[in-house]
Amino acid sequence: MSNFKSPKCSYCKKPVADQNLIVNAHSYGLSDKTKVCSEECKVQFQAFLDYTNKYKFLFLGGILISSIICFFHISGVLLLGIIIAIFPFVTPHTIEILGVKKSKVLGRVIGIGISAIVTMSWGDLL
Ligand SMILES: [Zn+2]
Repeated sequence: MSNFKSPKCSYCKKPVADQNLIVNAHSYGLSDKTKVCSEECKVQFQAFLDYTNKYKFLFLGGILISSIICFFHISGVLLLGIIIAIFPFVTPHTIEILGVKKSKVLGRVIGIGISAIVTMSWGDLL
């Protein structure tokens, strides 16, 4: 096969040697046979899925509320940043490219970045 690429761990992006280590990530919009490289990554990936399942409504509700506040006051943007930092639930596509481990970091960096920018420019924006 010319297009063959060795599968990468969906958690840490290292090459997968054992094809039997899989996680059902269907709840996150990913494959129900998402490959991981080790038991440790499997546990970590599963923990991430449990976390997203547990808090997805809180996350979505928080995004919705902070978006509404944004129309009235800059603190809505700060709240949005904090929510993204606490719940770095990136898109399934991002996980496919970066893996869960880096995606979580990316989400936190974006969230903290938004919060930091708003806080630093607080005086100017009010
Ligand atoms: Zn891994």
